[in-house]
Amino acid sequence: MRYYDVVIIGGGPSGITCSYYLKQKGIKHVILEKDEMLHTWKRERWDSFYLVTPNWMTNIPEMDDLIPYDNAYMSKQEIVTVLERFLERVSPEFIEHTSVDAIDKNSESVYEIQTNQGVFQTKHVIVASGMYSNPYIPDASSQLSKQIFQMHSSQYKNPKQLHDGNVVVVGSGWSGIQIALEIRSLTGKDVYLSIGSMQPLPTIYRNVNGVYWLNRLSGYRKGKPVLTYDARDLENENIVRKMNQNLRQCQLEGVHIVGRFLGAEAGKIQFSKDLIPALKASQSYLSSVKDAIESYIEKEKVDVPKGTLDRYTNQVDISKINEMTALDIYGKSIGNVIWSTGFRRDYTYIHLPIFDFRGLPILLEDDVSTSENIYFCSLGLSVDSKLKSAFGVGLYAIDESAERTVNAVINRF
Ligand SMILES: Cc1cc2nc3c(=O)[nH]c(=O)nc-3n(C[C@H](O)[C@H](O)[C@H](O)COP(=O)(O)OP(=O)(O)OC[C@H]3O[C@@H](n4cnc5c(N)ncnc54)[C@H](O)[C@@H]3O)c2cc1C
Repeated sequence: MRYYDVVIIGGGPSGITCSYYLKQKGIKHVILEKDEMLHTWKRERWDSFYLVTPNWMTNIPEMDDLIPYDNAYMSKQEIVTVLERFLERVSPEFIEHTSVDAIDKNSESVYEIQTNQGVFQTKHVIVASGMYSNPYIPDASSQLSKQIFQMHSSQYKNPKQLHDGNVVVVGSGWSGIQIALEIRSLTGKDVYLSIGSMQPLPTIYRNVNGVYWLNRLSGYRKGKPVLTYDARDLENENIVRKMNQNLRQCQLEGVHIVGRFLGAEAGKIQFSKDLIPALKASQSYLSSVKDAIESYIEKEKVDVPKGTLDRYTNQVDISKINEMTALDIYGKSIGNVIWSTGFRRDYTYIHLPIFDFRGLPILLEDDVSTSENIYFCSLGLSVDSKLKSAFGVGLYAIDESAERTVNAVINRF
């Protein structure tokens, strides 16, 4: 049995950043990673992936020499390179291919962590296993015939993986939209994008990236000084391409926008009938986000200009939508379904009473610690319940979240 003062579960950016802060305090710790370090960034993004967050919003401690302070976006390879260099610089003790299967507390109040590589003991556990543990595919997927090729967005790399026939992409978050656009433009196949529950954000508001506002509304403050867009940014090919990855562009490129996926029966895929009301609701949601940002700017006295460059290009032209509630699988030659339906967190391996009825950790006021010496890094804070974040706290807030987590550990050490 191996003992460490702190065990970190998960070798992603959060786990490594927690290690960075623990090392500064000289605390003996280890990272347990079920795959390889930085697995999600290396293996679970498609080939043409670019970050959703601009460079200046990537906050990784002591890595600014490799991250430009600008509004452009890193490719998958660029962010992987930055993260690999970060791993090298922090140089934590880690054990790969070690999956945490159970955490219990023994009679001496020591946590016993069961893994496929044996048992580890510790007095403090940092859970940095991310918000995306288990790819989620709805049960209704089993209603599709075996001839249809199905995969989750986390397995998608490029259109060469597709089988013959047209494509249904289920889920209209950032991933679903980007995958639908890529398949449509590179293959010319008919693509049907089934709208899920994602809500649009302003692409630019008060001349600042929309994701920045989401993080600020979530309570994160640390990071580089806010960078506004200027007119030249809107001519930069990298930036323009990213801004055009939205629902409106899908519509312009001929992606068929359809309602929620309900199931399949008698050779037809069924979609919900509420597409138009859902699109209208998302437009009013967008205006409530803008109101929330305005109130925040006023309350916190954030120094940003009037929004001369603002963009809300997520919006589709509702008058041009042909609502479709059933798609004939054979008539329309549907051969592929890609589930861009997100992920589910899974903490069932932690056998301690620190979860609510939904299985989510009950966090104390610092938003990282629990009533046990078990801490959760990089979960969303107590976000305004009306606002949804598409990727938790993201690279913008990992540094702040990791620092808070390690401070919480030290307070109880
Ligand atoms: C498609 C996609 C696009 C994204 N784009 C952006 C973006 O543009 N900008 C941005 O800021 N954020 C983005 N994110 C969010 C991004 O995932 C986070 O910013 C970042 O990776 C979170 O780091 P993390 O270390 O908390 O989690 P992860 O990167 O998910 O790392 C968690 C690690 O824990 C390991 N693990 C899980 N369970 C166990 C277990 N039981 N035992 C041992 N190890 C375990 C996993 O294998 C994984 O390596 C995106 C997410 C997705 C899914």
